[in-house]
Amino acid sequence: MTSKETRPPLVRSCLHVTCHSSLVTIPNVAKKPKTPAVRGSIIVISAPSGAGKSTLIKRLVAASPGLGFSVSYTTRPPRLGEKHGRDYYFVSERAFERMVRRGKFVEWADVHGHFYGTAGKQLQAAQEAGQDILLDIDVQGHQQVRKQLPEAVSVFILPPSFQELSRRLRHRHSDAPEEIERRLQKAREEIAHWSEYDYLVINDNLKEATHALRAIVRAARFRRPSQAGRVDKIIGKFGG
Ligand code: ADP
Ligand code: 5GP
Repeated sequence: MTSKETRPPLVRSCLHVTCHSSLVTIPNVAKKPKTPAVRGSIIVISAPSGAGKSTLIKRLVAASPGLGFSVSYTTRPPRLGEKHGRDYYFVSERAFERMVRRGKFVEWADVHGHFYGTAGKQLQAAQEAGQDILLDIDVQGHQQVRKQLPEAVSVFILPPSFQELSRRLRHRHSDAPEEIERRLQKAREEIAHWSEYDYLVINDNLKEATHALRAIVRAARFRRPSQAGRVDKIIGKFGG
């Protein structure tokens, strides 16, 4: 939590959530125990900024029918070309704070000085429709999702080297030099969390990394908990 002084109400709640994540309510997620034939998987992807996560996610979603993208809520202003409802739901801090208080988020965190959160409702709807859903969230968000939704599958993306990460950030031309420095510093902290994830993909070659992610999404569909509905139908006919 980097902005303790400037955002007292939200930070108070944030500490509350991160220290006692069992108190985070996922509205409706646990209320309706519908069992679709195949339950959609929740796939979490995290990476240090500049590792190529957005590029990979775009390619992955385009190549994976049935895989949706979880649109997060954020208090950061939209960047050029970003669209409300497609890239993020851009909301005020006041609106974000209200959602936190009402338990609308499965997870939320302060990332690079802005708040970001994943709405429980979206995940529930996708899962119940049997649709896989991808969460592009940071390491703090992943830690919370893991506690709330242990069935989630998670992937950490690493750049091939620190030098290459630095080069990609500079060549992307989207951030000022001080911001790049801040992101590189943050990358040092984030990569320490790689071992908390189920899978690790090194984004050296874009094509190979995309293939690896596709394989992970596909394999997740065959996990036992995802298929409970189908199994029940088959086993029910066995009698005995
Ligand atoms: P992130 O979403 O992780 O911050 P981006 O997807 O914006 O990162 O990628 C950062 C930059 O690196 C972009 O300019 C992108 O085109 C480039 N990039 C991504 N993957 C690769 C790769 N495998 N090899 C070379 N450049 C890459
Ligand atoms: P950006 O502002 O560059 O789109 O994203 C900055 C960081 O915030 C990225 O690491 C991204 O994964 C993370 N992020 C985006 N949405 C969420 C969210 O809903 N929750 C959390 N915890 N992190 C998020």
